[in-house]
Parts: sequence; structure tokens; C-alpha cells
Amino acid sequence: MAAINQIWQNFLDIVKQEEGSRVVETWLKAVSIERWDSCNCIVYLKAPNHFVREWVRNNYLHLFYEHLGRLFAVDSLEVTFIDHEEQVSCTVVPARLAPQEESSSVPQVKAKKISINKTYLFDTFVVGPSNSLSYAAAYAVTKKPGLVYNPLFVYGGSGLGKTHLLHAIGNAIKEEYKKLSVLYQPADRFVNEFIHAIRFDKIDLFKEKYRTVDVLLIDDIQFIAHKDQTQEAFFHIFNTLYESSKQIVLSSDVYPTEMKGIPERLRSRLGWGLVTDIQKPTIEEKVAILKRKAELSHEPISDEVAHFIAAQSVASIRELEGALIRVFAFASLTNQPVSLDLVKKVLNHSPVSIACRSCTLESIAEAVGKYYSFTLTELRSKLRSKEIALARQIAMYLMKRLTDKSLQDIGQFLKRKDHTTVAHAIGKIQKVQDTNESIKSVLEKLENSLQST
Ligand code: ADP
Ligand code: MG
Repeated sequence: MAAINQIWQNFLDIVKQEEGSRVVETWLKAVSIERWDSCNCIVYLKAPNHFVREWVRNNYLHLFYEHLGRLFAVDSLEVTFIDHEEQVSCTVVPARLAPQEESSSVPQVKAKKISINKTYLFDTFVVGPSNSLSYAAAYAVTKKPGLVYNPLFVYGGSGLGKTHLLHAIGNAIKEEYKKLSVLYQPADRFVNEFIHAIRFDKIDLFKEKYRTVDVLLIDDIQFIAHKDQTQEAFFHIFNTLYESSKQIVLSSDVYPTEMKGIPERLRSRLGWGLVTDIQKPTIEEKVAILKRKAELSHEPISDEVAHFIAAQSVASIRELEGALIRVFAFASLTNQPVSLDLVKKVLNHSPVSIACRSCTLESIAEAVGKYYSFTLTELRSKLRSKEIALARQIAMYLMKRLTDKSLQDIGQFLKRKDHTTVAHAIGKIQKVQDTNESIKSVLEKLENSLQST
């Protein structure tokens, strides 16, 4: 068996290819593999802090199951995070890997199953005037599935919590009625699954799968618009489930009667039960959500920090969350506490926010080199005089600010072994420009000239 570090590297490479480098650079690189217990098939991982661990656990566990098992050549494995401070294992999450696909000449219907997200709970959903009706209806449904509001139709703009509520319903029903089968599926996947089923002659299986569930949660139902055959299939599934009092919950970004590309008979059915909406959150709700999210990450934030983030004009809770994550990631990478100052810096001029098309690592190195009279070779060298170190740090800062390259890419380009050097440089330049007018003006000058080329 290859050395465990090699396996880990292969794993990162695969994830990079499949999910993009952002996931790897921002999160997975922060995690290290500590041990592989081949007798019990347990992989021990270590994260630098609680926040990274929770984030990785909540969002990327499936990647470990999917790829690490294959790389270790086992059918199933468990993932355990070793607690950073205490050095004790704090979670064991067992999972069975999908059975190896048999080589067969008949193509299989492939639809990656989306399971219910265990972190989207009623408990983690902050209730306020903008969403209280949807929340109450969703909650009521879990008490009497199929009997009170059927279908429940939740509509609202993007990033306002529809998916969260659907998962919360799924989680609560699974918890309360262990025997009921709950199926969550985003409508675009439903469409793809249907197309595959037709193509590979598996339509009976497809229908069977949907008609035998007790609770069907279809997210973003607007995606079946203009897909006549899928609509037909959905229509029959809907009728079957409805007639046998199985609970149907749908979400959409438009009101049922305003859905275009869906025939009247189906549209009217969508609104048969209860239709509730989610509005944009008020500033107080945004503050409450931010504080709750921070608390859930075990990184509580102060009121003033929460107010500052909430006051930024973000359109949705997803963006609000994104802002908070950027703040946490930056604080963690640069080893600073989450202060109001830090938040202002990260959000006011986020180094990743203004990628300009014509800027490349080469053009930035060239511009900085020219300004300070250093060659590229010198920038890449180990020389550490004050001047060259500053030029190098400015180059790193501008590279992150003006391109979408990762810290790793920038580090490699400048021949640095460790990409945390790049993170430190960015943190330093970000900070120093507040007190040092001359650096600030150099940065502006360089940035303007780079953007106008
Ligand atoms: P939608 O499906 O409406 O586009 P999501 O349900 O995906 O939105 O929500 C986007 C993000 O915002 C999710 O991470 C979700 O947990 C979070 N979110 C939305 N509403 C709330 C809320 N009321 N309380 C806590 N988190 C929320
Ligand atoms: Mg959604």
C-alpha cells in the first residue's frame, strides 16, 4: 500500500479536479491525516481548530467516504477527527461506501443520492417576521405528516432558507417517525434522473422509487418548467402520493399560480395545500442569524461585529453566511481574533473580490518588479532584504486581490515552499496600508495601472 501521505495527496488531487481548488485550498489543506487504522478501517484526521473541523465535517464528509475508501482499497471506512487540543477522538462517523459498480455492458441509472443535511434543523433555523409563517407550517407538517398541509409549498427568493426548511422537515420526521421513508430531491436532479431512466429503460424503477415514499420533499420545483415529460411523470407521482395522504413539500422561487411553463392542471395542484412565503430578513433578523451561526461554529461574535456584517447590503442569508465564513477563514489563516477592525478589512476590501481579467501572476510580478527595480528571479529568490521582502509581499497581496489564484498557486509561482507565507504577507499588507500612506498609494498606483492594461 502506498504511504499514507501519498494517498492523502492523491485524495486532494482528486477533490481538486472534481470540486475545484477552492475547497482544497481553503478547507482540506488545513486538515491533515494522522493515522490509518487498517484493521478497523478508521481514518484519523486532524483539523487546526474547531471551526475548520465542523465546516469540513458538515460539508465535505462525503468526499472522504467516496474517495478515501477507494484509495485505501476498502469497502467502507470510518472518519474520526482527533481533537486538536485534547488529542482525543471526538467523533466517529461511520458510513458504508457504495458497493463497487459491477462492470456490466448495460449502463446503470446514475443519480447521486442527495441525503438530508443533518445540520439543517428547526433548531438551527432562526425565526423572525420574515419567515415565521413558513417555519410554523413546516413544523406543523412534521407533527402530522400528510394530514395538515398537503402539499406544503414554500416560496421565496434565493438564499432565504427554503432548502434549510425542507431538510429540517426531513430531519424532524425521520427523528419522530423512524419507519417513514423520506426522500429529498432538488427538482433539477429529478429531471435528470427521469431523463436517465427513460434513456436506460428504467422508468418503472423510477416511478416505483417515488411512489413508495411517505414524505417527498422536492426543492426548487420551478426547474420542471417546460419539461413536459418530466411534468407528466411528476403529475402521476403527485396524484398517487396525494391520494394516499403521503406528505408532499415543495419549494420554489415563484408563487404557484405565477409559474410559467407548467400546465394549469399541475399548477393548481401545487397550490392545493398551504402556500407560505419567506421574505427578505430585517436587519434584526440578520443579526440574530449571524450570532446563531457563529455560536454554532463555536466562534461567538460580538454584537458590533454582527451589526457591521448585517448592515452590509447583502441580498440573502446565503451571502450573509458567505461573509461570515470569509471573516472566519481570514481570522483563522492569519491567526487573529475576529475583531471589528478585522471584519471591516475583510469585508470592505476583500482581497479576493475584484479579480480583473487581464491580470495574471506574471503581469503582477512584472509590474511590482518594475516599480521596485527587481527582476522576477529576485522576487522568487531567498533574498530577504527589507526592500525585496516588501516588494514580494506586495506582489502576493495584489496577486490574491486581482486574480482568482489560490494561496498555493501564488506560493508556487513565487517559489515559496509554504503557502502560509502568502497568507501572512496578505494579512500584513492589508494591515499596514491603514497606517502607512506611502504603501497605500503604491498599492493604488500599481492596482490602477494593472487594471487599465
Ligand atoms: P434557499 O433554498 O432559499 O435558496 P437555503 O435554505 O439554501 O436558501 O439558505 C441559504 C443559507 O442560509 C443556508 O446555509 C441556511 O442554513 C441559511 N439560512 C437561511 N435562512 C436561515 C434562518 N432563518 N436561520 C438560519 N440560517 C438560515
Ligand atoms: Mg435552495
